[in-house]
Amino acid sequence: MSAGQNPPVRRLADWDDARLDALAAEHDTPLYVLDLDRVRANYRRFAAAFPDANVHYAAKANTVRPALRTLAEEGAGVECASAGELQRAFDAGFDGQRVHYTAVNPPAADLDRAVELAVDHPALTITVGAEDTLDRLAERGYDGRVCLRVNPGVGAGHHEKVRTGADAKFGVPDDRAAALLGAAADRFDVVGVHAHAGSGISGDDLSAHRELVARMGDLARDAPVDLEFVDVGGGFGVPYAPDEPPLDLDAVADATRSALGAVDADLVVEPGRYLVADAGVLLTRVNTVKETPETTVVGVDAGMTALARPAMYDATHQVRRVEAAGDAADAGDAPVVEATVAGPICESADTFGEHALPAPERGDLLAVGNAGAYGYEMANHYNSRPRPASVVVDGDRSAVARRRETVADVVAVEREVTWA
Ligand SMILES: *Cc1c(COP(=O)(O)O)cnc(C)c1O
Repeated sequence: MSAGQNPPVRRLADWDDARLDALAAEHDTPLYVLDLDRVRANYRRFAAAFPDANVHYAAKANTVRPALRTLAEEGAGVECASAGELQRAFDAGFDGQRVHYTAVNPPAADLDRAVELAVDHPALTITVGAEDTLDRLAERGYDGRVCLRVNPGVGAGHHEKVRTGADAKFGVPDDRAAALLGAAADRFDVVGVHAHAGSGISGDDLSAHRELVARMGDLARDAPVDLEFVDVGGGFGVPYAPDEPPLDLDAVADATRSALGAVDADLVVEPGRYLVADAGVLLTRVNTVKETPETTVVGVDAGMTALARPAMYDATHQVRRVEAAGDAADAGDAPVVEATVAGPICESADTFGEHALPAPERGDLLAVGNAGAYGYEMANHYNSRPRPASVVVDGDRSAVARRRETVADVVAVEREVTWA
């Protein structure tokens, strides 16, 4: 990307194939690649669209340390979903004032840790979505900064499983919020209100987003305490399909501002996916090609344990061939076939779907697009499969940020059980 340009989307075809091929050759596959310069560009574009808001990166989208560090250096805040993410945020250099911990049914150890961290970092904010959580904080002697998460009763999302706004699990009921804020102010420093409608703010329909923001504006105006900020969460969509347009950030920012109305508090937004999705690809190599009556099955070395989104949310991730195994001269003329790209996991859900690929051959290198968000973070050890390595690139530089796991890592927690 040349200096000064900041296109709203990076498509899978925009990646430099020779570079990806070299990285796969050096580091093996499956391999996550994250471009820090693109993370930076995404943050800058986002922050420019919301000039008077505090932008807090939702760390759960991708916690790889260089990405967190890049965003900390850019001046972003961070939204953490667990004690582990809090540790990563502080390790990456975020100062307490820019760290929000969203405590969703927090295990005791997480609350203990958050309260401990707040001793050294009193500007840390804990976002609470249940009265019980407030009581549990008070029991730990905490009287610091608290934000109340509200369930606005509206949800948006690309899939049932990410529509958190209307899910009773998240936040206190809307009609209880004002009273709870008043009560909480006796015990804590109540600084904000928060809502997050799930993932899926898209250009075609901003109505759910407007409604959520409007309710938060009303709540801020009704609140019996002075608030420092109104946090309207994340969910800013990215195009997963090649022909899908990018989100019109200015339109979203305008809608947010107008729906919020006049409030005497800062606006906080929490983009996760938007900042990292198109900065990442997953590289995977073809190991099996099988013709069947229905389709050509292209077996690859990355599966649902490396990238869970297709299996979990029926998510579409574009797949394209980066480098042909065979003679490069012939490869250009190879006929394109509709192929089913499938991983090595013994589950029928373990497929990345149907993709048009030039006559697939064993050894071809494929790239899976938009893998920068919720990719490695959701990776797991099912089928005793080690997680991929992660490489970060920044300009001409590249470095391993997470080494490839081995089976020894996977079995390291096993203990010999011998009955006396
Ligand atoms: C997951 C999450 C986000 C980010 O969601 P994206 O869809 O990645 O933007 C923001 N806020 C909260 C509280 C979240 O749980």
